[in-house]
Amino acid sequence: MPATAQGQWALGYREPLNPAERAKKDSDGLAVRQRILDIYAHRGFASIDPADLRSRFRWYGLYTQRAPGIPGGRTAVLEPEELEDEFFMMRVRIDGGRMSVEQLRTIADIATEFGRDVADVTDRQNIQLHWIRIEDVPEIWRRLEAVGLSTTEACGDTPRVMLGCPLSGVAVDELLDTTPHIEELTAAVVGDPEFSNLPRKFKTSVSGCGRHCTNHEINDVAFVAVENDGQLGYDLWVGGGLSTNPRFGVRLGAFVTPDRLLETWKGVTSVFRDYGYRKVRNRARLKFLIADWGAEKFREVLEEKYLTAPLPDGPAPAAPTGPRDHLGVQRQRDGRNAVGFALRSGRTSGSQLSRIAALAEQYGAGRVHATAQQQLVILGVPEESVDPLVAALAEDDLVVNPSPFRRGTMACTGLEFCKLAIVETKKRANWLTDELERRLPDFDTPITVNVNGCPNSCARFQVADIGLKGMMMHGAGGGDVEGFQVHLGGQLGAESALGRKFRGLRVSAEDAADYVERILRGYVDRRKGAESFADYVARADEAWLA
Ligand code: SF4
Repeated sequence: MPATAQGQWALGYREPLNPAERAKKDSDGLAVRQRILDIYAHRGFASIDPADLRSRFRWYGLYTQRAPGIPGGRTAVLEPEELEDEFFMMRVRIDGGRMSVEQLRTIADIATEFGRDVADVTDRQNIQLHWIRIEDVPEIWRRLEAVGLSTTEACGDTPRVMLGCPLSGVAVDELLDTTPHIEELTAAVVGDPEFSNLPRKFKTSVSGCGRHCTNHEINDVAFVAVENDGQLGYDLWVGGGLSTNPRFGVRLGAFVTPDRLLETWKGVTSVFRDYGYRKVRNRARLKFLIADWGAEKFREVLEEKYLTAPLPDGPAPAAPTGPRDHLGVQRQRDGRNAVGFALRSGRTSGSQLSRIAALAEQYGAGRVHATAQQQLVILGVPEESVDPLVAALAEDDLVVNPSPFRRGTMACTGLEFCKLAIVETKKRANWLTDELERRLPDFDTPITVNVNGCPNSCARFQVADIGLKGMMMHGAGGGDVEGFQVHLGGQLGAESALGRKFRGLRVSAEDAADYVERILRGYVDRRKGAESFADYVARADEAWLA
């Protein structure tokens, strides 16, 4: 295919090749803010231009939610206007996952007052609200912006929330405090029209801690702290992403000093903006360009056309030092403690977030940070306050030392609110956790169970020990039922691997607990010493996993 046929701007092809590109060309996504303030919030849902509603609203973190009662089997059949409700999901971007108590309280109050008290901590450190009315959006923005938060470019073909370690600045195993670097990046680029029309969503990760908790392997651009001949900086990765065509990012072998971070981010993002494939939406992520070009050519174009000088070569990051979730009581560099606790698959409420804010104020330093695993951490807790805090959290079903199942289970939004969903996820994940805790009370090995409502992999099923991808399947009694395709043994880290997918390996939602129990019992019986579940799966006979 000639390159121009892919819609690459740098090759002169500027004419939109699909409706999404057309909408962006007709009016930049950022322009919709004024229309919301001036028109839609006053005239109501029915006044919203469809191209704004289904495209540009995303530039401000707004999606219509799924109308209640539509089964998953209808998802691919119905028209957008039949699937959508007149309420919105609203994503609040929390760059680096960092929130003061004041910020958390503001989000909590908004969730309670405007969002039927529902809130989700996402696996990209955002907080997502539901049931939002267009009439309330200006007041919500006013409150968020008054405390330094926003929904700008929380979705859309933009630089979305930038991941950072929730323990930045206090982690004992950290090489670099990424906080000022993420702040510099977000201040410079979020809302900048230079980067508001990218070919597709663009995910950034900046990681400084030894655990690599921000999952650099699956971001479009990632900066991983390394030491290079006594100098601290970042190893540059590009082109990671999951969804329907998962690919791990690749190292460019380039070393980025903090003073060149912004320039390098802009360079990488500009290559994507100018050379990314705009013709077909599901081939537009940066990973497809990297697959065609390879690391060497990408680095060459980046350095020659977009940077002031070539980047020096640098080393690869060391292997991760521990689990990525930052749960439990962790000693900070200053002698105080960070207390990480598990929500239930990220689901919380405005009321609960308010109580968490109060605890962070009473026992900690007034900060609550989100992890990239749908969990929260209270920082700055003195030794004598740890036990009372852990007990107070437990009273609210917020567990500091959870079972492996509670600790390792994530779920995406799913059928409850998502228009792309095929199956229910959050409630199903919580049921699965409860069942596994009851059935396997002595199970003592870290395990990740990621429940997804469709192939888009918002909850990363391909890199979980047990990844469940929602689908409809024939039920035992005839008729279609909700089920999952099963992916086993995926992982991130020193040996990143996508989960194994076996022909025909699927399980009905109803049978999911029986199935997971069965394969985990098989693992416990057959594992060799401290063999991980992923290593076990890699050598397992297919029959052991059926
Ligand atoms: Fe929706 Fe699918 Fe993403 Fe789940 S994985 S939130 S169902 S798009």
